[in-house]
Amino acid sequence: MTGCIAVLNAGSSSIKFALYEATDDGALLFRGQIENVGLAPHLKAVDAAGAVVAEHRWTSGALDHHAATAEILKVGRELLAGRPVIAFGHRVVHGGTEFAQPVLVDPAVIEALARLVPLAPLHQPHNLAPIEAIAAAAPTMPQVACFDTAFHRTQPALAQAFALPRDLTAAGVRRYGFHGLSYDYIVSRLQAIDLVLARSRLVIAHLGNGASLCAIRDGRSVANTMGFTAVDGLVMGTRTGSLDPGVLLYLMQERGMDAKAIEDLLYRRSGLLGVSGISSDMRTLRQSKAPAAAEAIALFVYRIVRETGSLAAALGGLDGFVFTAGIGENDAAVRAEVAAGCRWLGLDLDADRNAKGQGVISRDGAKVKVLVVPTDEERMIARYTGAVLGFR
Ligand code: ADP
Repeated sequence: MTGCIAVLNAGSSSIKFALYEATDDGALLFRGQIENVGLAPHLKAVDAAGAVVAEHRWTSGALDHHAATAEILKVGRELLAGRPVIAFGHRVVHGGTEFAQPVLVDPAVIEALARLVPLAPLHQPHNLAPIEAIAAAAPTMPQVACFDTAFHRTQPALAQAFALPRDLTAAGVRRYGFHGLSYDYIVSRLQAIDLVLARSRLVIAHLGNGASLCAIRDGRSVANTMGFTAVDGLVMGTRTGSLDPGVLLYLMQERGMDAKAIEDLLYRRSGLLGVSGISSDMRTLRQSKAPAAAEAIALFVYRIVRETGSLAAALGGLDGFVFTAGIGENDAAVRAEVAAGCRWLGLDLDADRNAKGQGVISRDGAKVKVLVVPTDEERMIARYTGAVLGFR
């Protein structure tokens, strides 16, 4: 019986998981998640065909991250019905400057990753918790950490720099960039479907609850919109994106806000939610007739258009643009509005293709080829885990 690779992607309010055959780019067996951890947890797992194979709701918030991970491991064991897990792959948000590749976890790696917690306090502890729990329960189980930052380590020094005094830069205050597993996966898909495009000058737009753009040349990250933390850049579901740092001084000095209150504002109360006053969810905003919902979407699109211009400058031109993640893959109106704003760069969509939302959606002969490519971060983690352990 072939063994499996188990992938865990532990976020701040959800834990995603996926199980793959441990063969070369092995088949997906099951995937699922627990959403709303700590509030109203909801577990759902599906098989490779999308049929629901497990579902459970917890009425109280009793299920914290620790208990949710234990629940996922239990459900995973039940679904695998005796088939062995031979390795775990984990998404880890921050690899700092040290980790430019996925790495086999050992106690020294765990220590190094724990030192990066101050750089990603809302994500890194959640990523590390299941790694530590599995290491304690099954010390010989191979675990591979895959980083959201690693893909961006190819960026030129200029693209990673803030104009801060050198001692702060040396202490790690620099642009890291995130969503790297998603960008890496999209590049691998482009290499399979359009090698010429994969080698050209691209902007990939990962538009989900978190949102960022990445400039890619010849398959490597050149610049991106997220910086020191995942709050920089585009308008997101609940995060501000780029903000004049002077606003933070104003909030502290004139409004008496402390670090915790500002963190809550920047990460949880802003973005689409803050501007609309209605929801962080694009589907809900699309259904709303309220002017504030339309304004929130307009600001979301405007910032994408502005930042695309910036990334095209970093690339010295643009040949391709890829939409991915929940909004990028599903919201044809956002795609049309972004393309209209970037028409000067050569984006020109075919309305029928955009409505279908699969593969190439630009007109034939358009200067910039525009595609919709679904992302799959868990698949990328499984591939890396297999590669690090030499399963393929
Ligand atoms: P996460 O960053 O949590 O992985 P996703 O990539 O799942 O997020 O994206 C979530 C976002 O995608 C939400 O704003 C959601 O409303 C949006 N979305 C999902 N499906 C659609 C759709 N059919 N139309 C518009 N937006 C959608």
